This record gives sequence, structure tokens and C-alpha cells, in this order.
Amino acid sequence: MNITELARKLKITPNELRQVLPDLGFHIGLRAIQIPDKQAEKFMEVWQAKKKKEAAIQEIKKKISEREEKKPTLEQNKEVVIPPVIRVYNLAEKLNLPITKVMNELIKNGVLTNVNENLDYEIAAIIAENLGFEPKKGEIEQERPLSSFKKDLEQVLSQESGGKMKSRPPVVVVMGHVDHGKSAILSAIREVEMLSREAGGITQHIGAYQVEKNGRLITFIDTPGHEAFQSIRAQGGRAADIAILVIASDDKIQSQTLESIKVIQQEELPFIVAINKIDQPGADVERIKKELSAINLTPEDWGGKVICVPVSAKTKKGINDLLEVLNLVAEMEKGRLNFNPLGHLVGTVIEARLDAAVGPVATLIVYNGILRKGDNVIIGRSYGRLRSIKDQYGKQREEAEAGLPVQIFGLKGLPSPGDIVEVMADEKEFKKKVKQISIAADSRQLGVNNNPMDEVKKKEIKYLNIILKADVKGSLEAIVYSLEKLDYSEIKIRIIKKGLGNLNESDVELAKTTQALLVGFGVETVDMAKKLAKESNLEIKTYSIIYDLVEDIKNALNELLPQEIFEQGLGKMEVLKIFQNKNKEIILGGRVAGGKIIKDSFVRIWDGNKKNGEEADLKGEGKIIQLQINKQDVSEARVGNECGIKIRTSVATVAPGDILEIYQEIKKERKIRK
Ligand code: GDP
Repeated sequence: MNITELARKLKITPNELRQVLPDLGFHIGLRAIQIPDKQAEKFMEVWQAKKKKEAAIQEIKKKISEREEKKPTLEQNKEVVIPPVIRVYNLAEKLNLPITKVMNELIKNGVLTNVNENLDYEIAAIIAENLGFEPKKGEIEQERPLSSFKKDLEQVLSQESGGKMKSRPPVVVVMGHVDHGKSAILSAIREVEMLSREAGGITQHIGAYQVEKNGRLITFIDTPGHEAFQSIRAQGGRAADIAILVIASDDKIQSQTLESIKVIQQEELPFIVAINKIDQPGADVERIKKELSAINLTPEDWGGKVICVPVSAKTKKGINDLLEVLNLVAEMEKGRLNFNPLGHLVGTVIEARLDAAVGPVATLIVYNGILRKGDNVIIGRSYGRLRSIKDQYGKQREEAEAGLPVQIFGLKGLPSPGDIVEVMADEKEFKKKVKQISIAADSRQLGVNNNPMDEVKKKEIKYLNIILKADVKGSLEAIVYSLEKLDYSEIKIRIIKKGLGNLNESDVELAKTTQALLVGFGVETVDMAKKLAKESNLEIKTYSIIYDLVEDIKNALNELLPQEIFEQGLGKMEVLKIFQNKNKEIILGGRVAGGKIIKDSFVRIWDGNKKNGEEADLKGEGKIIQLQINKQDVSEARVGNECGIKIRTSVATVAPGDILEIYQEIKKERKIRK
């Protein structure tokens, strides 16, 4: 074959061909015009293989360069500043990852938490590192409850393919100061809706309920509003789409009103102000509006944007208006209230409790996807196959669509409000995860430090171990929240077990091995446990007021604080005579040369047989255990007194002429006040 013909076939010039031929092992000479057919065929094969290889390399190079292109943003995100303590959801937010991903990493590392729990920097840093970040320790940060849950939801929704989206009911949270009528408004709404319903069951208290107004469904979060439930309130803010801020018209804007406003603003929640108790003699709606204007929340009729609805939960006046306005706000928010029935499930826990008969029961709201009976779920540190789903009327449901509050049954372990529901379709994956949770749960239960995380945590920090049992999930959460706030750098509270129900033998056994405080709230101690505690010399403390419980724990923390010890010089004594020296106790006589001597004070023994100008040597130290003047026991001897003292010391010989320096140790109590 002619070289030119071959070159044409290969789409290169004859000269190029002549150059590559030897490179590929074909030696035909630089001036050759022809190549034998066999060799030409062979060459074409080799050439094609070479081209294929080159194309493959090119492809890889392209991929690498694409990755490189993306890298700068990855690199930018890599460094992350984490404060000394951080809540799980805040960490997820910082890392810009879904909460479930962070939770999974924690569980993988044997750390069993819920989304609201605080992590120490050391642990958060390891988790961040495992997830590909470079953590740096930062300063304590103001807590930002901005919901990474909603971010998760937004992310999921943005990835759902369009076309199948449906609108879901808004989730509404009622916030405000204690006694301003949150519960009353929630009951009033429930009653109004009961009247409008033709038939059906009675709404049960499950932590959330749904009503229908003008053909539109609205879901209300209905959790306790006690002052100590601040964490749950913030939780409600995270789960809600719209807030109702309740202010009593016979009162004024109060501390928790402001706190609620903070949550509303941080969560960027659209809200309506319900000015309540307008039936009261002292009611003054205009005064409340004035106060709102003063804090930059100017009502609509005052030229601002804040919608205010005067209501009376007692007489139900205005409740319908409130629902109408809610519908209007929901209409404005419509764009954000979509869900994909076929999409990835997103749901969160509103309430959870342990039912004596059926075990853990959780109320949750689904925001995307559909939850079905029989689903395998992981919720925080609990898991299970959904045995049944019930709605607010106690009616069995096969599935829960977005916006419908439901109770779920079949969980192992109790989830916490705010925990995210994860449905695991892959049975194998589910089992793997369950195993990880069980292992982590075991080590947590036993207080065993068999995972590296605990080792990191242990470092020079003192711990106060606590076993906490409470009557209901709400108080348990509130107590844990209050105790977490006592966290102090030198000393930390470690709740090694918390749960619902009476304090029992296994709690006492665990307290024995972990030297934990046994604390109960609104619960009792079973007789066997009482007996066991007595035998083991363990104290069990039960409370009915959260404040008392927290104060007691504060005191216990103070006791554990390392004390500061100061030395206070008292006086000097010159040794005149040694009476006795045996068994590390020396009885000697001397004169108080300066200051005073007090029984039970400490001595430093200086060698007095030093020539003038030489520094005296320290022989050692001891403690004065007896002090006498004229053979009479006294507690104090003053300058000029001659006295006898007995000191306990490991110094072998004390001689006349030695000088005793007398001092006291003063312990200064330190206090944690937070
Ligand atoms: P919460 O702490 O905000 O949930 O307040 P509650 O709903 O428990 O109400 C506190 C008190 O105010 C209760 O005694 C209610 O009966 C009363 N209350 C609530 N709303 C009204 C109202 O519209 N009018 C009157 N007169 N009393 C009300």
C-alpha cells in the first residue's frame, strides 16, 4: 500500500505517518513510498487502539478538569468555624448538609443524639471532618434557630421533578407570652371547626390538629405552652409555615412575646397578631397596636404591614376572622406550600410520648411525599416498621399525606420533637442503620466509654452524671433543655440516661456503676429501686417543679467545681526544746516570734542552724494537731507566748533554733451561676 493512501485513510499527512510509524514499532525507512499490505493492516489496528486509548485518556482528563473546576467552591466550603457547643441542626446548617446526613454520621460514630442536642466542639469537629470539612474552633455563637429542616425541605422540593406537585395545607404555630391565651385560642379554633363538621370523631390531643375553613385545610401545632418549653416553642417555629402571635389586650407585650417575635423573625415566618381577651374589662386593642409600632411591627391600619385580628377565645368573637385571615396568608404563601406525593419523604416530629399499653407514640407532620403503613422509618435515634397510623380522630389511616398530623405506632425508642423522619425503602440499609443505632444506644445506656468520641470528651473535664426520669416527654425535653444551659467549660452535665416512667432498679444499677445522680420529675421510685438505692447509699431526688430540680443540679455542679485554695500567713515560732519525736509526730516547745499560732494550721520547718547571711533550708512541712500553753489545750497562741505544740510531719528531726512558719489554707468557694 502507498504511504499516501494509508495516511489518507488515517486522516493524517504522509509526513506525520512517517514519523509515527517507528514510534509504534514499524520500521520502513523515512523515504519509503510503500508499506507491505500486511504491515499496513497491522498498523491500522495498532493505530486504532492508540486512538481509542487517547480518547479514553481525554475523557478522564475532561472529567478531572470538570472536577477541578468545581473544586474551588468545594475548597471554599471546606473550612468551617464551629463554636464550642453547637446544636445538631445548627451544625447541619453550617455544613450545608441535610440534617439526616449529619445524624447518620453521628450514629455511625456511636453518638446518639437528637437534632436539638448540643454537641461539644470536639465531636462536632470529628463529624465535620468525616464529612469532608476542615473544622476550626470559633467563639460561642448566639443560637440561630433558623431551620435547617426547612432548608432540607426546600432542597428536596427543588430536586423533585415538576408536574406532579400538589398544594398542601399550611402548618400554623401559636406563640406568645404565658397566659395570653394560646391554648384558649387553639381550643376555640378546634371548637369552631367541630361545629362546622357534620359528623365524625372527637378531636384528640395529639400535639397537632387540622381544621377546614372555606374548603381549605389548615394544620395547627398544639403543643404545651409552658414557660419551660421554650425549646419546643422554637421547635414549633421550625416546623411551621405561618405563626399566630397572641397578645392579651388587657396586658402588654411581655418577655415571651418578644422571644416569640425573635423566633418568628429568625425563621422568617409570615405571621398574624391575634390580640386576645377583647371581652375583658381592661382590654385595649389600640394600646397593643401602639406597643407593636414601637418595636417596628406597625399594624396595617396604622400604615404598616402587620395584620392584627382582635379576638376573644372566651366568647369566640373574631375566631372566624382569624381563620379567614389565615386563609389569605396561606393563599399568599401558596408558592411555598407545595408537595410531591411521589417524592422523597420529609416529615418532622411534633410530639412523642410513651404509652403504657402500646409503647412509643409520635405525632408527626409530613411535608413532602407520603408516609405509609408498613414503612421502615428512622426518626432521630428511634426506628421501626410503622404498625399503624392514626389521625386526630383516632381513625386508622393507610397513609399520611403532606400537612396531615398523624400519630404513628411501632417505633422502638422515643423520638424527640424536631426529629426528622426518614423512610428507608432498602431493607438491607434499614437493618444496617438499626444495628448502628442499637450499638450506639447500648454504649450510651451503659455509660461505657468504648468509643473514641467519649475519650475525646473526657479530657480534663469533670462530669456530673445524671439519670433523669420524667412523667411526660414535654417535661423531659424542658428539663434537658434547662440542664443543657448549665453547661460550663470546666464541668459538664452528662445525662447518661433519660426516659419516661418511674425510677426503677435498672436506673439504680446504672447509677451505681456510673456514679450518677438519680433524678425524677413527676414520677415515683418503685419500692425495689428504693431498697436497692438505700443499700448502695445512693440518693434519689424527685421533684414536681422544674425550677427546684435545676437549682439542685446547679448546687451539685458547684460542689464539683475545683476549689481555689489561698495560703494565709499567720505567724512565726522559734523552737526551744524537743520533747518527743516518734511515729511522725513531734512534740516541741517554743516561743511565738511573730503573729499567732492556731491549732490545725500548717507549718513549714526552716533549719535554724545556719550561719548569719546564709539562706535557711526548708526541712519540710507539717500540721499542728495540738497546741498547749502551760499544759492547757488552747486553740490559739499569740506573739510572746511560750507554748507546746504537737505536729504531724514526715520531717525526721527538728532541732532547737529551727524556725516554724505557720500558715492557714483558705478555700474559696467558686460558683457557677448561669
Ligand atoms: P396560654 O398560657 O397562653 O396558653 O394561656 P391560656 O390559654 O392557658 O389562657 C390563660 C388564661 O386566660 C386562662 O385562664 C384562660 O381562661 C384565660 N383566657 C384566655 N383567653 C381568654 C379570653 O379571650 N378572654 C378571657 N376573659 N380570658 C381568656
